[in-house]
Amino acid sequence: MDHFLYRDGALYAEDVPIADIAAAVGTPFYVYSTATLLRHFTLFDEALSGMDHLVCYAMKAASNQAILKTLAQAGAGMDVVSGGEYARARAAGVPGDRIVFSGVGKTADEIRMALTGGIRQFNVESEPEMAVLNRVAGEVGVRAPITIRVNPDVDAKTHAKIATGKSENKFGIPISRAREVYALAASLEHLEVIGIDVHIGSQLTDLAPFELAYQKVAELTGTLRADGHTIKRLDLGGGLGIPYARSNEAPPLPTDYGALIERTVGHLGCEIEIEPGRLIAGNAGLMVSEVIYVKSGEDRDFLILDGAMNDLIRPAMYDAHHDIVPVVEPAPGADQVPYDIVGPVCESGDTFAKGRMMPALAAGDLVAFRSAGAYGAVMSSEYNTRPLIPEVLVHGDQYAVIRPRPTFDEIINRDTIPEWL
Ligand SMILES: *Cc1c(COP(=O)(O)O)cnc(C)c1O
Repeated sequence: MDHFLYRDGALYAEDVPIADIAAAVGTPFYVYSTATLLRHFTLFDEALSGMDHLVCYAMKAASNQAILKTLAQAGAGMDVVSGGEYARARAAGVPGDRIVFSGVGKTADEIRMALTGGIRQFNVESEPEMAVLNRVAGEVGVRAPITIRVNPDVDAKTHAKIATGKSENKFGIPISRAREVYALAASLEHLEVIGIDVHIGSQLTDLAPFELAYQKVAELTGTLRADGHTIKRLDLGGGLGIPYARSNEAPPLPTDYGALIERTVGHLGCEIEIEPGRLIAGNAGLMVSEVIYVKSGEDRDFLILDGAMNDLIRPAMYDAHHDIVPVVEPAPGADQVPYDIVGPVCESGDTFAKGRMMPALAAGDLVAFRSAGAYGAVMSSEYNTRPLIPEVLVHGDQYAVIRPRPTFDEIINRDTIPEWL
């Protein structure tokens, strides 16, 4: 469910007409709904209410500080995967003890930054990382709280680029080696083992892989406790999928996911962490774009938009589907025509949809990409020297630009020309 609905023939974000925002900030832009962000966070929070828990928003999905602040004020922690994200979360006012540091390649500098600034835990992914963490913690003079990310060798049955829980993936340590690696961790003076971490992938539309993975985590908890380790926190990762095509998908609900967690690991007396990203931000954001041209090809018509693959790369990168809807509501029963919907970038991959049935559109019309809130703005680039597009946050009948569109000068002046030229 989201808060982007038609009212009197016009698409709104909560109580603000999309067309008003477009007129004020220009297109293309991202717009997020506060109510949808909070609704999704609350769904998770309530789904785990029977257990001691913290929902750590995986901020890589959408990391604008206004979004972080919105969620943090509602009680969310953050899952970060880089020093930059750690700094951003702190800048947004998130205390260190609500920040979990994930990621397969944390550098010594990033680790030092988090240890000195304060951290809830590191999710360690390898033995070499463990050695660096131990050394840096010793230098800083603290003990680093850790979980170890185990790779349960479960097929998440999602797109290959976002599956992370099979033994062939680069993530975590094989669960078969867990005892050995926990023993090593326990021998390192500046580490404090507190739990287990697992994250098997993203955009999972079936709960079965979670169930398999969490059963393995439950079993491992018993084994590690018997070995004498303290396992008091389980970080169960993120990955719950969202419906990208409204017409034919019904991914699992957070309530069912919460029940699954309770069923598989609830009896262990551990504090539960989850790290949802996409499900919190995905349907809380639209990308709004204007039709520049309608171009008739030999056997098809192209809608050429002012938004492009650099602004929303998911279709090019993951073959992702986004529902694309006109901002002016089509009349009921209006004729639909097929369009190839493309951006202006000089790549054939700059295609959002092929043969998409849409009401007839003309230059100047606005369209909205649904479900663009996660892995949208954060993955955008300035390819073709196209400025990063603005982000706007709506709250009831108010809205604010939370990241302005840079000017060409701001972009161009970042280049520095060497003396010899
Ligand atoms: C990407 C990621 C997440 C969030 O995944 P979603 O599919 O957006 O919920 C959570 N944890 C880790 C370690 C990740 O890498």
